[in-house]
Amino acid sequence: MSHVCYGGAPVTIYRVNANFGGGSTSPPNSIFMYNACATTACATYTLAHETGHIIDSRTGLFSEYDSLGLYAREGPLWTYPNAFSEHEDFAETLGAYVVWHNYTWGARHGHSAGNLNYTGEYPAHYDFAKSVFGGVEY
Ligand SMILES: [Zn+2]
Repeated sequence: MSHVCYGGAPVTIYRVNANFGGGSTSPPNSIFMYNACATTACATYTLAHETGHIIDSRTGLFSEYDSLGLYAREGPLWTYPNAFSEHEDFAETLGAYVVWHNYTWGARHGHSAGNLNYTGEYPAHYDFAKSVFGGVEY
């Protein structure tokens, strides 16, 4: 994907021996994946979210996200498990896009566990993510 490779530097993915799931990034070049995210769906979701941070740091797409007022208009995606911020919502917008049809999130932020109705709950976020992915739907 051209956004990830923008600037030409490689992205290194590290597997971290940890008894918890999820991941983190050290933008613009490193992604850390924690061991306890054992299912393919969880690893895909985490990698897509962390790649969103890489894209945020390497491209001007966050400015586009910001100028669309997505965070203010629709609020942050409830699927993100930690404290909300616009940069986390940017990454979550892309991460959730890849898995939303087949992923079940745990309960968080007052929302029960379940699936995300991305097009129904966050249509502007969805449209932005779809444009970032060049119109490809997963
Ligand atoms: Zn994040």
